[in-house]
Amino acid sequence: MRPEPRNTSAIVLRRIDYGESDLIVSLLTAERGVLRGYARAGRKSVKRFGSALEPFSQIEIRCQPGRGELLTLHDADLISSRRGLRLSLPTLALAGYAVELLEMLLREGEGQPELFCLLQGYLDYLARQGDPELARLLFELRLVQHLGYIPHLLHCSECFIQFGEDEIAFAPARGGSLCTSCAGDSPLLRVGLGTLGSLSRSLQTPIGLFEGFCLGPKTLGEGSALLSLVLQSLLPRSPKSLRFLQQTTV
Ligand SMILES: [Zn+2]
Repeated sequence: MRPEPRNTSAIVLRRIDYGESDLIVSLLTAERGVLRGYARAGRKSVKRFGSALEPFSQIEIRCQPGRGELLTLHDADLISSRRGLRLSLPTLALAGYAVELLEMLLREGEGQPELFCLLQGYLDYLARQGDPELARLLFELRLVQHLGYIPHLLHCSECFIQFGEDEIAFAPARGGSLCTSCAGDSPLLRVGLGTLGSLSRSLQTPIGLFEGFCLGPKTLGEGSALLSLVLQSLLPRSPKSLRFLQQTTV
């Protein structure tokens, strides 16, 4: 006997038109991480899906296991369409970028309540026209930490001493921050100790919280360069959405 359909909160990551009126959607749920579902007549059935299956929407779905890996979606209620994301291209590009990172780094079906909370907070903050640079930095930083890849920040990753100098060398392949003597003469990214302190303090805050941070341009610039290097070392390829993001923010 097939199990009864169950209700789940989800964020729509992506939708693909299938056949004449069906849809395949990729979703992030708290309990089971990234899932893919099949919505028969998803593009036509106003009663069952309305406009709920648009990317970045917060929804409540009723679903059950289907054939193969796809869930069967019965119906969905729209909780929030996050309309504010579509008011500016950079904001929309940032939403797409976060979704692509999650799809690249998470395995299907693994419960990730913290990452659900992170994406929810990030999209809500962007939809309220929050600071795009801050949103991206906090999202990348927390994602990397949650997945267990946070580099050493406030001490040397090779000899573990605390830093006395103001400019610190940083190399993800060597574990993160490096003291002058461990860094040697190699041309490495240099980051201010103040930036490393701010990043480290940001990691002590709730994962879904984006309001109330006050990071200056130096921290945002250096933090973004540092996280780009970390992500480059983790991702199998450069995210496609990065190019669109760079074009919209020039
Ligand atoms: Zn050292």
